[in-house]
This record gives sequence, structure tokens and C-alpha cells, in this order.
Amino acid sequence: MRIFKDKKLVIASHNKGKITEIKNLLEPLDIQILSAYDFDIEEPEENGLTFEENALIKSTFVTQHTGLPSISDDSGICFSDLNGDPGIYSARWAGPNKDFNKAMSKINSAIKGKKNPNYNCHFICSLSISWPDNYDVTVSGGIDGKFSWPPKGDKGFGYDPIFKPLGYDITFAEIDPDFKHKISHRAIAFNKLINLCFPSLKC
Ligand code: IMP
Repeated sequence: MRIFKDKKLVIASHNKGKITEIKNLLEPLDIQILSAYDFDIEEPEENGLTFEENALIKSTFVTQHTGLPSISDDSGICFSDLNGDPGIYSARWAGPNKDFNKAMSKINSAIKGKKNPNYNCHFICSLSISWPDNYDVTVSGGIDGKFSWPPKGDKGFGYDPIFKPLGYDITFAEIDPDFKHKISHRAIAFNKLINLCFPSLKC
């Protein structure tokens, strides 16, 4: 494993919700944090079959285009009743207009249409760091929860308003963001990455 000693890190994402969360998590590092918006780069085609593969596609793409180390996040929500969908297609279910109300309604109709609806679901996050010398590290984290309808809360992004983490009676969009950053799939993956690449951030 490699300790991160560089002075710049590019967040390989155009998703403002994710950029904010990753920036917050990396804030204690004394390095310059950039994002795909600081460069004229398109999003690569995410044609991997797993969250890990797609995370690696994004970080290697941005590192090749910027010559800088980059960190990517591929994440999504998986419903037991929908055979794991939308899963790696979580962003695509919202369509080109990123209409998450539409995506959440689609999930509600699919689950409520079942004879014995099962509300189990989980968020997954895979994080990859790529360096310009082709070295990569990929880790993953997940959090179990229950589908909740109607959508509630305005603090999060994406599918947060319909996800209640196990043990809590409020959705990710109602939870204080600082608390979400402590328990989320992204936080779990991040802690693994910190152990491997950023030991100075360990509590
Ligand atoms: P991608 O990783 O860019 O393919 O997009 C993943 C999609 O999953 C995002 O656009 C969000 O809709 C959803 N997602 C991932 N993480 C979260 C989260 O923490 N809260 C809510 N939605 C999320």
C-alpha cells in the first residue's frame, strides 16, 4: 500500500453532492483539493460491472488527463426487492436531467407493486485513488437500511430522502450532515482508505 504524500488531489467527479462530502472528509489534509470542474474534462464512460470497476475507471481517466493523483467515488443504492437495482445504475435512473424525484417514484412503484414488499436496501461506495505511475488503491464500504416513503428531508442528495439507516427512524436527508459523514457507506470506505493511504488522518 502507498501512503499519500502528494500536494494535490483531484476529486474525479462532476457530482456536487459527492464533491462536497469528499472535500469535507479530506479537509484535515494539508493539500490542495481540486475537482473535475477545475479542468476541462468530460466524464468517462462507466462501463464497469461493479462499483469497484467504475471507481477505477473514473480515477484512472482523470489521472491520465490531469497528470495528478485523483480520487473517485462510485456509489449507489441497491434494493433487495429489485434484485439489487438501481445499483451501479443509480445515477442513470435519474435520467439526463438528474431527476431524483422521478427515480425515487420509480423505486416506490416497483416495490409497492410487489405482493409482499421487502424494504431492505443498502448504499455502497467504492473509492479509488490513482497515481500517475499507474498505482491504484480501491476500497468499498456499505450501510444497510430500509426504504421509506414518502421522501423526507432536504439535507442530503440523490436517494437520501428515501433511505433510513438501520437503527434510525429518520432518513439520510433528515440526519445532520456531519453525522451522516460519520456513519455512511462513504465514511466506511473512507476509513479504510485512511488506514491504507492517509494514516496521519487516523483519530
Ligand atoms: P455515480 O457513482 O456517479 O455513478 O452515481 C451514484 C448515484 O448514487 C448518485 O448520483 C446518487 O444518486 C446515488 N448516491 C450515491 N451515494 C449517495 C448518498 O450518499 N446519498 C444519496 N444518493 C447517493
